[in-house]
Amino acid sequence: MFVYADNAATTKMSKTAINAMLPYFDEEFGNPSSLYTLGQRAKEGLEDARERVAKCLGCSPKEITFTSGGSEADNQALVSAARIGERKGKKHIISSAFEHHAILHTLEKLRKEGFDIELLPVGPTGTITAEQVKKAIRPDTCLVTIMYANNEIGSIMPIKEIGAVCKEAGVLFHTDAVQAAGHLHIDVKDQNIDMLSLSGHKFHGPKGTGVLYARQGIMLTNIIEGGAQERGKRAGTENMAGIRGLAAALEEACAHIDENAAKVSKLRDKLIEGISKIPHSALNGDPVNRLPGNVNFCFEGIEGESMLLLLDLKGICASSGSACTSGSLDPSHVLLAIGRPHEVAHGSLRLSLCEWNTEEEIDYILQELPQIVEYLRNMSPVWKDLIRGKRQFIL
Ligand SMILES: *Cc1c(COP(=O)(O)O)cnc(C)c1O
Repeated sequence: MFVYADNAATTKMSKTAINAMLPYFDEEFGNPSSLYTLGQRAKEGLEDARERVAKCLGCSPKEITFTSGGSEADNQALVSAARIGERKGKKHIISSAFEHHAILHTLEKLRKEGFDIELLPVGPTGTITAEQVKKAIRPDTCLVTIMYANNEIGSIMPIKEIGAVCKEAGVLFHTDAVQAAGHLHIDVKDQNIDMLSLSGHKFHGPKGTGVLYARQGIMLTNIIEGGAQERGKRAGTENMAGIRGLAAALEEACAHIDENAAKVSKLRDKLIEGISKIPHSALNGDPVNRLPGNVNFCFEGIEGESMLLLLDLKGICASSGSACTSGSLDPSHVLLAIGRPHEVAHGSLRLSLCEWNTEEEIDYILQELPQIVEYLRNMSPVWKDLIRGKRQFIL
């Protein structure tokens, strides 16, 4: 059996998204900046995609900028807000300790430029409260950036409340909504969001495509200089096929958001219930307030990487930490942020589902995973120490 359970890393494209892209590789190959009919048809396709994306987010098409992905949108949002703040002498930025590296590394760059970066601590269930944000805001705060939902442990932040606190204080609020878009309802006006990033390949759209929403009046700073595409805010000939694919995938995901969430969360809960039976394991993140498809556990006495290799031999694709940190030996900064000790954080497993997963696949994972955990524990010197009482169990 082959089971793809790593949808937080990337998703398989939907047929709708593929079909929306194909003409733009073929007969509709025009450049939207060209004045002849072929180019103008591409321009119409571009603006139609922008309108569709805007409708899904509850904003105006003028507030949408297409980017090369979630990472670029995050970079541009943060740098833009920093430049706006700098001009007013405000250089304090509030974020959280468990953001994606596209946020954390950009903040690190700004710190080196002299910005005061404050990373709020994350509670044990993986949430940041509006109260925490409110307390942290100072007269010189220029930006609050808090992710909508965490990519590793799936916890969902109170975005509307955080947005309200920022609005009241007159501070820009950005959210990295890459894990939320297409999976949770988003309405940027109702939720008091000034800037938002999303990525096509996390909701069955193409890789290398993303969107930055920025409320009208927020002056964006270019990350890529060149031509006057995207109102002069993002140079480079538009990725027409990618943009068409992203818009089609987002529209499709938003049209089925409730039925997909109901289906996927049922599979998720079945998987969580089954895995919880493995001794000395613990669910990471909030049991209720979590993304429909996210399952994340720590298992004491084993390494996440060896679990992934054995799961792969059984045809199961999963991840430990996130795709971006796999390959590095450091434990996940997200698990450390919610208070998991190093030795436990090393033994983590994330299974992320989508609406195409089936009950049979969940049964198959629940059949194979406990055997893999037991096999690895039997070979582990740490596990031997734990069962002989030479070392204390944490979980
Ligand atoms: C995947 C992801 C990103 C990066 O998006 P790309 O399109 O791959 O650049 C950023 N933030 C979060 C929370 C993500 O899950």
